[in-house]
Amino acid sequence: MKPLIGVTPDFNPGNREDMGGREPTYFLRARYLRAIEELGGIPLILPLANEPSLRRDLIKKLDGLLLTGSGPDLPPKLYGERQRYRYPVMSPRRSTFEIHMTHLAVEHDLPVLAICGGMQTINVALGGTLYQDIPSQLPSSLPHRQTTRATCLSHAVQVEPKSRLRRILQESRIRVNSSHHQSIKEVAPLLVVSARAPDGVIEAVESRPHRFLLGVQWHPEFLYDRNSMARRIFSAFLRASRKK
Ligand code: MN
Repeated sequence: MKPLIGVTPDFNPGNREDMGGREPTYFLRARYLRAIEELGGIPLILPLANEPSLRRDLIKKLDGLLLTGSGPDLPPKLYGERQRYRYPVMSPRRSTFEIHMTHLAVEHDLPVLAICGGMQTINVALGGTLYQDIPSQLPSSLPHRQTTRATCLSHAVQVEPKSRLRRILQESRIRVNSSHHQSIKEVAPLLVVSARAPDGVIEAVESRPHRFLLGVQWHPEFLYDRNSMARRIFSAFLRASRKK
């Protein structure tokens, strides 16, 4: 049986001119779905349900959860900070849904792959914090917003020796794409770092006690069809989701 993977979309509540304009609109880069589909899963775009009982029903029906990246940032108040820089902030409808879904997935030991902003979401959901803006707060860091296309690789990451990620990738150092201006500051108690960029920026986290709970700061969905490291991440996630 192919695993059913819930994928979170981005949401415009109808307060902007672009991305659906004044009509509440979901949107999601098709690559996230294509990667799941082509590597052996059934992707399902999730409604950002307000009703907690509906979220529980969704969790029970899914075999895995893919938390996607987002253009806008998580509201900093979720990790106890005021917004320090002027960046667009995500609709609370999305952040509330994803944070609750992370808690439910952890509780039910449902496999989770969290990409880019999704990794920041699981960290905040589980009690960690973020750097609100890497260039402002870590001025000597590498450029993490590459100017080349997202299918190009732009920096290395060092993979922690005993991590699940290391077992998945079978490599201690890989090159990744990079399209983020925020990163994890304090790691949530349940999570451990599984990879860092050469400047120390956290690029992947995972939970040891869980079946599969992995966050990556880069974008394997841009690379799965050409890069075996990206493909292995999706394949390992789908393998874990297939087991009940
Ligand atoms: Mn990066």
